[in-house]
Amino acid sequence: NRQWQLASRPHGEPSQDNFNWVEQSVPSITQGQVLLRTVYLSLDPYMRGRMSDAESYAQPVALGQVMVGGTVSRVVESLHPDFTAGDWVLSYGGWQDYAVSDGTGLVALGHDPKQPSYALGVAGMPGFTAYMGLTDIGQPKAGETLVVAAASGPVGSTVGQIGKLKGCRVVGVAGSEEKCRYVTEQLGFDVCLDHHQDDFAEQLAKACPNGIDIYFENVGGKVFDAVLPLLNTSARIPVCGLVSQYNATQLPEGPDRLSLLAGTLLKKRARMQGFIIFDDYGSHFGTFSQQMKQWLAEGKIHYKEQLVDGLENAPKMLAALLQGQNFGKVVIQVGPN
Ligand code: NDP
Repeated sequence: NRQWQLASRPHGEPSQDNFNWVEQSVPSITQGQVLLRTVYLSLDPYMRGRMSDAESYAQPVALGQVMVGGTVSRVVESLHPDFTAGDWVLSYGGWQDYAVSDGTGLVALGHDPKQPSYALGVAGMPGFTAYMGLTDIGQPKAGETLVVAAASGPVGSTVGQIGKLKGCRVVGVAGSEEKCRYVTEQLGFDVCLDHHQDDFAEQLAKACPNGIDIYFENVGGKVFDAVLPLLNTSARIPVCGLVSQYNATQLPEGPDRLSLLAGTLLKKRARMQGFIIFDDYGSHFGTFSQQMKQWLAEGKIHYKEQLVDGLENAPKMLAALLQGQNFGKVVIQVGPN
C-alpha cells in the first residue's frame, strides 16, 4: 500500500519535501468493513489548509498521517452488508492505494458508472460549491453581470456556466490566454481576462460597462482589488476561496485597505458572505445532484479534467495547482479502472 504521509508543515509553497513516501502491506479488514482500492484521487486547493496547523474550519492533518483527499475507489473486498466487490464508491480515502472503511460517508456510484471521476468534480464537491454559492448567496438574475476567477477550474467554470443559464452576462478571469480561450469558446462565458496582464484592472472595468452585480470570490488578491470599485448597489459576493493567499506567510503589505472595503460595502449595501460547502449546505446535495445530472445530460454544462497518471505525482501537482499551472480539475489516476 503506497502512501503519501504528511512529514512537515510548509512555510509558503508546499513541496515534495513536506511528504514522506511510505510503502506498507495492504491492510486487512474485519466484520463490517470494506477494503477500497483508490482509482482516482482528487487534488483540491483546500489541501494546502490541511497541511497547516493555523486555525481553520477543519482539523489539520497530523504529521505522520496519510494526506487527506477525496477518492473514487472500487471495493476489493467487503464484509459490509451494503457493499460488494467491484462496486464503485466516492470516498475520502486519502493519498494512498488502499483504504479501509466501515461504510461511514461512502457514497455508492454503482457497478458501472459512466464517468466515475466526475464525482470528484462537476458532479461532486466543487460543482456543488459552485451551485450553492452562486444560487443561494449570489442570487443571480437575468441581465446582471457576474464575475468569477479561476474560471477554467472546476468551481469557476461551473459558476460561470450556471450564471449563463440564469441569463447573466458572465466575465471570467483566468491565468493564461489558452485558459481564457477555452472559457469563452468552450464554456460560453461572454468575456475572459488574463489576470497576469498589467492593465487587468482597466480591462475588467471595460468588460463590465454596467458594473458588477455578483462577484464569486475564488482567489482574492489583485482580482478582488480590481472588482471592488466596480461593485453595483446591492452587489452580492459569495466568498468561496482565496487561493491567491493560501501560500502567503504574512498579510499583504499596506496601506491598510480595510476601511475602503467596509466603506464600499456600506455605500453599495453589498453583501459579502463566506460559506463552507458541506457544513452549510450538506442537506441540499440531492437537489444539486439531480439538477447537475440533467444539465450534463443535456450538454448544458461542460467540464474539463486534467488526469495525471501516478500517485507519485500528487505532491508536485498540488504545488502546481496552487500556482495555476493546472488546466481543469486535477485528478490523479492512482490505480487501474
Ligand atoms: P482550481 O482548480 O480552479 O485551482 C485554483 C486556481 O486558482 C488555479 O488554477 C489558478 O487559476 C487560480 N489562482 C491561483 N493563484 C492565483 C492568483 N494569485 N490569482 C488569481 N488566480 C489564482 O480550484 P477549484 O475550482 O477547486 O477551487 C476554486 C476555489 O474554490 C478555491 O479558492 C477553493 O479553495 C474554493 N473552494 C471552496 C469551497 C468552500 O466550501 N468554500 C469548496 C471547494 C472549493 P488561473 O491560472 O486561471 O489563475
